[in-house]
Amino acid sequence: MAYEIRKYNDHTWMIEDQLGENSLTRFFLLAGEERALMIDAGMNTKNAKEIGEGILKEAGLYEKLVSDQKPMMIAITHGHGDHMGGLKDFPDYYIHEADYRGFDMEKNYPGQTFHPLKEGDILDLGRRKLEVFENPGHSLGSLAFLDINDRFLITGDSIQSGHIFMFGAEGMDIFGGSLKKLMEKTKGRFDEILGSHGNAPLPADQMEKVYTAWEKVMRCRKNESDPEKEGITVTEEELNGMTVLDYDCGDCFFYCSR
Ligand SMILES: [Zn+2]
Ligand SMILES: [Zn+2]
Repeated sequence: MAYEIRKYNDHTWMIEDQLGENSLTRFFLLAGEERALMIDAGMNTKNAKEIGEGILKEAGLYEKLVSDQKPMMIAITHGHGDHMGGLKDFPDYYIHEADYRGFDMEKNYPGQTFHPLKEGDILDLGRRKLEVFENPGHSLGSLAFLDINDRFLITGDSIQSGHIFMFGAEGMDIFGGSLKKLMEKTKGRFDEILGSHGNAPLPADQMEKVYTAWEKVMRCRKNESDPEKEGITVTEEELNGMTVLDYDCGDCFFYCSR
C-alpha cells in the first residue's frame, strides 16, 4: 500500500496514506522522552503499528521508548474508518467516549482496551505533553491535540484545507460553538495546524478562517442572508449516495446535508 513518511521535526512524523490521486489520510507519530504515541492509524495502511515502530528504530529511539511495560500508545481523533485502518494491532487505545459508543467500537474491536479521552486531559510522553480538546461537529467525539512545547495542533477532520464533512444538520449547528471554545482555549498557543486530509502544515489562522466561513454558511442556512451576499458558492452534489450541499467559502469548504 502506498504511503509516505514525512518528518515534521526531529521527534514528530506524518505518515501520508494515499487514498487516490488527490486524496490522502494523514496520521502521526510523536516521540517524547519516555513514550511514543501514534495519533490515528491510517486507512488503506493496515500496519500502522509496524510503520511507527520502524520509524522509531530508524531514529534510534525504539529501545528507549518501547517495551512490554510501555508499548507505543495510540489515540484516535475520531471514530471514522479512514483513521483506524491499523488500530487492530494496538492492545489499548484512547478515543472520546461519544465516538467509542457511536461507532460501535466495543463490537468492532473486541479484546482491545478502550481508554476515554475528554476535554483537558493531558497525554504525557515524558517532557512532551499533549492537551486534549473536544471539538464536536464532524463527529460527536471529535478531538484536537495541542502539542504544548512544539506549538502545533492536530485537528483530525475538523480543521483542514479541503472539504470539512458535516454529516447531519446537527453537526454543522454544534460545530461553531465547539470551534469557538477551541479558539479561545488555544489562542496564542500554537503556530501550525496539522489536519488529517489536505495540505499540512497549515498556518494557525486557518482556524479563524474556518470559523468565519462557518458563520457565513449558518447565516445562509438560517435564511438570515444569502450566498451571494456572503461571497460563497453553494452547489448540490451527490456524495456516496447522499445529496449534500457543497459550500465553497474560498478559504475552506463544507459538505453539509440539506
Ligand atoms: Zn472523519
Ligand atoms: Zn477523515
